[in-house]
Amino acid sequence: MMQRQHALFMLTGNKADSTHRISPQVTIMNVHGSCHCDAIAFVAQTDPQLTSVCHCHDCQKLTGTAFRVSTPALPGTFSLLRGTPKVYVKVAESGSRRAQAFCGDCGSQLFTYDADNPTAYGLRVGVLAESQQLRPTWQKWCEAALPWVQDLSALEKAPRNDRVR
Ligand SMILES: [Zn+2]
Ligand SMILES: [Zn+2]
Repeated sequence: MMQRQHALFMLTGNKADSTHRISPQVTIMNVHGSCHCDAIAFVAQTDPQLTSVCHCHDCQKLTGTAFRVSTPALPGTFSLLRGTPKVYVKVAESGSRRAQAFCGDCGSQLFTYDADNPTAYGLRVGVLAESQQLRPTWQKWCEAALPWVQDLSALEKAPRNDRVR
């Protein structure tokens, strides 16, 4: 469910991203997250326009895949509904400690927050029920991107796991 609001949110988080994170017109979307085994669930609100792709080596390693898609929770909207995630704290070169919450049973990566100031939550788009509506508007750490990743549309497209030839 989306609604247009003319409020101006000052979103906290990575200062380097600030130009992408402040908009005179914020779109608010309710999102519902859960892990693959369904033991953990959360809700939040996000502005879909802030959805991004990260190609950095940490995201590749932590996801086990080519890149990560995230959207920030609007301040004060994150709420854990059930379950207790495991948390791995990743220390950046800058010294900032970023908590990575995941399900200890099924391994789904769920959300992230500043380990020393747990207010600004980043949500992993793949675990959200609304993932189809969260189209990234920008991508970062492109210097670390896998060489084929910008050209996915060139690949053969099977509707399911069925290659024709
Ligand atoms: Zn799980
Ligand atoms: Zn990254």
